[in-house]
Amino acid sequence: MSHVLAAVAWPYANGPRHIGHVSGFGVPSDVFSRYMRMAGHDVLMVSGTDEHGTPIQVQADKEGVSPRELADRYNRVIVEDLHGLGLSYDLFTRTTTGNHYAVVQELFETLHRNGYIVPKVTMGAISPSTGRTLPDRYIEGTCPICGYEHARGDQCDNCGNQLDPIDLVNPRSKINGETPQFVETEHFFLDLPAFAQALGKWLDSREGWRPNVLRFSKNLLDDLQPRAITRDLEWGVPIPLEGWRDRGDKRIYVWFDAVIGYLSASIEWARRSGDPEAWRRWWSADGEGKDARGYYFMGKDNIVFHSVIWPALLLGYDGEGDRAGEPGRLGLLNLPTEVVSSEFLTMEGKKFSSSRQVVIYVRDFLARYDADALRYYIAVAGPESQDTDFTWAEFLRRNNDELVAGWGNLVNRSISMAAKNFGAIPPIDPAGLTEADEALLATARAGFTTVGQLIERHRQKQAIGEAMRVVGEANKYLSEQAPWKLKAESDKPRMGTILHVALQVVSDANTLLTPFLPHSAQRVHELLGGTGVHAPMPSIVQVEDLDGGPAYPVLAGDYTVGAKWESVPVEAGRALATPKPVFRKLDPSIVDEELARLGD
Ligand SMILES: [Zn+2]
Repeated sequence: MSHVLAAVAWPYANGPRHIGHVSGFGVPSDVFSRYMRMAGHDVLMVSGTDEHGTPIQVQADKEGVSPRELADRYNRVIVEDLHGLGLSYDLFTRTTTGNHYAVVQELFETLHRNGYIVPKVTMGAISPSTGRTLPDRYIEGTCPICGYEHARGDQCDNCGNQLDPIDLVNPRSKINGETPQFVETEHFFLDLPAFAQALGKWLDSREGWRPNVLRFSKNLLDDLQPRAITRDLEWGVPIPLEGWRDRGDKRIYVWFDAVIGYLSASIEWARRSGDPEAWRRWWSADGEGKDARGYYFMGKDNIVFHSVIWPALLLGYDGEGDRAGEPGRLGLLNLPTEVVSSEFLTMEGKKFSSSRQVVIYVRDFLARYDADALRYYIAVAGPESQDTDFTWAEFLRRNNDELVAGWGNLVNRSISMAAKNFGAIPPIDPAGLTEADEALLATARAGFTTVGQLIERHRQKQAIGEAMRVVGEANKYLSEQAPWKLKAESDKPRMGTILHVALQVVSDANTLLTPFLPHSAQRVHELLGGTGVHAPMPSIVQVEDLDGGPAYPVLAGDYTVGAKWESVPVEAGRALATPKPVFRKLDPSIVDEELARLGD
């Protein structure tokens, strides 16, 4: 057994999440975590909503609410969506907690003390008519990179590049249209070049990464520049330095605080578990966590934050950049083992866009279809290693032809036939097993090795393909053995053997599919006469802020229960439940209905 951290990208709390988001990081990280737990590892799966930064402030201004109110609203929406998908977070929290603020400030202070955070005089915008600082979000202009005319002072929403207000062509105040004046102002910068060497050494020692992620990350090292980590903004974590702490107009930049969430959420989980030091088992590089592994899941637009910036913060905290230094009070911390990045999901040939309504929100999807139908689609046809297009026609086909006609049919016909003819799981005939029986059982057992190894190496598409191959073999076996023809009393022992073998393989295939399809796996377990929890589910729990802030909802769960990653012999004589379909067959008319809902 080992300690495995599943660090899942933090969704930004400025709106509901669409299925592109959960295809990239949500479902794959859950499949991985569920499998690793079943295989006996001690998994800590953490994330939360990312709630600071200009976009939330801008949206809140537009709606006339406070940024906290806006964040509260979408934090709840996102928590409910992830819960609906059955994502087994040990803790899904948020960045507006007292705990998160304290951990962010601890990292900031230590990096500053070690000399990796340096003040720099930059050109900041002020309003010429009032003489006051003009926050980034109130400055608009043309993006110097892509030419988009409504880029914001801190970021271009068209090309996604981070900007400084002074970079904008034709900058103007969004308040009154005047041209801002640029004056000298002080901000803090992370000295990224001081980590180039340590990062290069670390990246060279990585094994098993997707080659494009590793190549992309190494290329980033060629051009590391100091990066601003504070902004002219009122919404965010205060700067924990003398003379800065109480300034209302400057805050830590949202990307700096958000990546620290992996650590702060682990600490929050430990504080809530009753053992406040328990997080060290996944993080302490020189102590209990020294053999722990950490896997980070995200979309490809976030690679830089996980393969360069977060490791740089950790190296600086550990005192291992060019300027050395002393580790902070949390001790030496582990760097990521692997950065697992996915590609993008497009929608009927178009890029997801909420403004053009080319979007399917998770909650709308779950209102009309089952969570496992989406989870299945993401696993077999998601953007694991290349950009992938979601189409309703393909969703319908995968659901009806594979999930319903393949797996659902195998479950249904083997359990129905056994229930009808034996009322329970039939015994194996003393005459023994045939070669065909043995071959099918061996195929199913071998699945535990192949499927498990593929999930561990983040090849989930191949992994579910192998699990479904076992299902296909079992369906073929039933057709060939045709137990329904063995109606004579003298044939009944052989019929029982065939059904016993089929039910054993249903049980094994169900275990192999559990990380992918946890909701239906629980139902199949019960149809086979099983009791208790087979696939544990997260719950939404309203908790108090540990440091005196307002209460908030989190996702949490007890995942120590449930099936293990092994073949469990089915017991002859165990009563079977009354069979009912595990999956819903969809009417082909849904394709046109859904296309009509899409804009454009
Ligand atoms: Zn741009």
